[in-house]
Amino acid sequence: MIESLLRKHLISLKGYKCARDEADCADAIYLDANENCYDHLGGGKNRYPDPKAVRLREEISSYFSVPFENIAVSNGSDEMIDMLIRLFCTPGEDKVMIFSPTYGEYKVFSLFNAVDVVDIPLKPDFSLDVERAKERIKMGDVKIVFITNPNNPTGMLFPKDDILEIADANPGITVIDEAYAEFAASYGSLWNQRKDNRRIVILKTMSKFFSLASSRVGFMFADEEIVDVYLRLKAPYNVSLSDQEDAIRVLSDPSSTERDKDMIIKERERLIAKLEKLSFVISVFPSEANFVLVKVKDAYNLYSKLLEKGIIVRNRSKDYMLENTIRITIGKKEEMDRLMEVLDEEEKSALS
Ligand SMILES: *Cc1c(COP(=O)(O)O)cnc(C)c1O
Repeated sequence: MIESLLRKHLISLKGYKCARDEADCADAIYLDANENCYDHLGGGKNRYPDPKAVRLREEISSYFSVPFENIAVSNGSDEMIDMLIRLFCTPGEDKVMIFSPTYGEYKVFSLFNAVDVVDIPLKPDFSLDVERAKERIKMGDVKIVFITNPNNPTGMLFPKDDILEIADANPGITVIDEAYAEFAASYGSLWNQRKDNRRIVILKTMSKFFSLASSRVGFMFADEEIVDVYLRLKAPYNVSLSDQEDAIRVLSDPSSTERDKDMIIKERERLIAKLEKLSFVISVFPSEANFVLVKVKDAYNLYSKLLEKGIIVRNRSKDYMLENTIRITIGKKEEMDRLMEVLDEEEKSALS
């Protein structure tokens, strides 16, 4: 089933084999991989990391209650986006579907791989244009559909029925990127709602909710066949030992991430309330993530004023439908206090 969706030449392609795949005994003498036998930093850093990230996948499995066989780990979820395109899309033939405005890397990795992008822009209320998407899918050349939920940079959740309707109409792979889902108020991963659709892939990252952006750990929940082909063909040592260990530590202590989440959401709501009172703000978009998108009278002016005061935000004005918008990531209370001070100064000069 999944095999028929793969790029033809990958069906029989064997990946790189590590000798340790064959012989895995606890106290073995490892003379197979030309590593240095001396461990200068300690902790086994002289050795290549586990290519299959078994311990980390076990930890992810118990955290999310997803079977081990359905989990694969990558060097940030960005690597997984690239790998999924390379596994399923034949350059010059298959296409990737996105819904602008959305996360920029789907397009970058598609074009990098010489795979064309079909863009079905969101409707003016930033909802998915389900009918247009289904209509376009009928042309038969779309191999992967990428949907971000909650969306970045809008911060909004799409109704799960809209996503599943597109996924079910799509004979190819539908990737639902849940990078921010853990911040959403009442969000159950769509993994549990996919029913018998084996072509749905859920993408997750340790970079946002789990506070590990420096570690570069992403992962997917997918059909066993997709996990197997990914494990067979990916670069064997793509996630370092320290990164795997960091991710295990964070996942085994859910109380601290939950506490941080409460603080972030509190600050998000405080920022939204503040922004809504400012005369140069046109609208604040509702957010289920750890950032807020705001439409202002002059985004370039506000962006540079904030920059002058050492506050860096993201000007999204060049994105489709996002003229004069700024995306603000939620920071610590002190950082948000400072931001609000500068916003107040800006309000004074706007009114004077
Ligand atoms: C930040 C982000 C990612 C990137 O995650 P990494 O795991 O750091 O590569 C993926 N998708 C979306 C929608 C993001 O906003």
